Amino acid sequence: MSARVHLINPSNTSFGVAVITPRWLYVLAAATGHRWGDPHLVDETLERTNFDAIAAGDVVGIGIHTGNALRGYEIGREARARGAWVVFGGIHATLFPDEPHSHGGAHAVVKGDGDRVWELVVADCMAGAPARIYEGGKVGGDQFLPARWDLLPPDSYMWASVQTVRGCPKHCSFCSVWRTDGQQPRQRGVDAVISEIVELRRRGFRFIALADDNFYPVTFDDLAQARRRSDQTRMHELEALRAERFELMERLALLPEDLVFYTQITMEAAEDEEFLRAMRRAHIRGALVGVEAVTEAGLKDIYKGFNLAGDALVARLRTFRKHGVHVLGSFIFGLPSDRIDTFAATVDLADRADLTFAQFVLLTPFPGTIDFEKWAAGEGGQHPPVDGVPLTQHWLIPESRRPKLYVTHPTMSLEEIRVRTQGAWDDFYSWRRIWSRSSVVTSIRARLAFVLVSKLYRQMYANTGIATDSARVQRSARWARITGKACRRLFLGKPMPDLQVPAVTTTAMV
Ligand code: SF4
Repeated sequence: MSARVHLINPSNTSFGVAVITPRWLYVLAAATGHRWGDPHLVDETLERTNFDAIAAGDVVGIGIHTGNALRGYEIGREARARGAWVVFGGIHATLFPDEPHSHGGAHAVVKGDGDRVWELVVADCMAGAPARIYEGGKVGGDQFLPARWDLLPPDSYMWASVQTVRGCPKHCSFCSVWRTDGQQPRQRGVDAVISEIVELRRRGFRFIALADDNFYPVTFDDLAQARRRSDQTRMHELEALRAERFELMERLALLPEDLVFYTQITMEAAEDEEFLRAMRRAHIRGALVGVEAVTEAGLKDIYKGFNLAGDALVARLRTFRKHGVHVLGSFIFGLPSDRIDTFAATVDLADRADLTFAQFVLLTPFPGTIDFEKWAAGEGGQHPPVDGVPLTQHWLIPESRRPKLYVTHPTMSLEEIRVRTQGAWDDFYSWRRIWSRSSVVTSIRARLAFVLVSKLYRQMYANTGIATDSARVQRSARWARITGKACRRLFLGKPMPDLQVPAVTTTAMV
């Protein structure tokens, strides 16, 4: 049999069904080309890798972020032991291109975007001569590849994912996106986005995540600053980016009414009511908003001064809801300014702000971020190792032994922060609160679906991420497997195989 290409998305926990398609798998499948046949795709959030399917001479591409790097390295070593060519890519491999070589059995590492360079990498491996490092760079928005959705396994995902922009102009201290994807937004052509969405709706997907770093890359503040410059070039660039966003949304508005989009956006979008109205027309019904902290001191801790705090924050978040955009608010616990009452105050604010969903994450110094650099240099750079692994490479510590928190806190113990964070999840996702929030939908069936999805979200992300008790983690994973199957059906629509890309009329473009 001739050699083939395998693309693997590593995960420590498999649920049998997943919420969102890992887009990179399907984009790299397209980048592989047709010379080597269809690549074999493995998403370990569904099922573990079957190594017997990997033969000597095959090419195994593994995409890693910091959270799944260790599992990725296990897979790489095993694949290499079976005689395959092993290549790593993804954010973590871009930040530490030597690490997959020392820990993951890599023959090659791709830094940056794989869209353009991957075909060459595969050809070099098949010829038996891969380079140690490939520079994928940051490809332009007009070069993003459409994903190979024809390779999707049946009955596996609730939401599909399409990317419309890469890069984010902000510089939040806990985030590496602006460094790895760049601060200059790279927007994808509207036609390419629409035709991919039409293909997904044809296949029966009604819910589609716009998997963007920041769907609102040009704020009023950015425009005002550019307007003050004597050279208006930047101003014209920003206006063009903004006009393209509106063009995309007007085209999304022409798609079937039952489509629901979800994206990630900064809170500043709430001051732009024209943008919010366009989002509503475009069927963008939900957005992840990084609220992070509810106090000014907390926002200062993370360089997110552009967010609001207190009652002004509640009012701003409610603006999304007023325009039909449901918010998944993301909060960070463990900031230096957090106190014991911060946890309850945060849940209370999430409630008052009419958030439909919320997530409470522990402050973690991820590599590539300002927080990581500050933390790694702190305490004279002397962090005690765990099982012989330096704490500054915490992602290499086996998951069961890995600390949940790293940054010492001025007033609380790390265990206290972890337990109180778990408490915030319990409180926000209590039966009483979920049932009360479920009034956002009207029919009993929809309310039950809302309750089920809320509980599923909590099990998948809170219990498996924050809990230290492995029995609890296993129970949560089992529960999520069962509920996930039931939930999936609620998200799908009847396939529309004859759906066409809507014709663009002049009125749709104004
Ligand atoms: S957290 Fe969001 S807004 Fe901040 S830099 Fe990252 S992607 Fe941009």
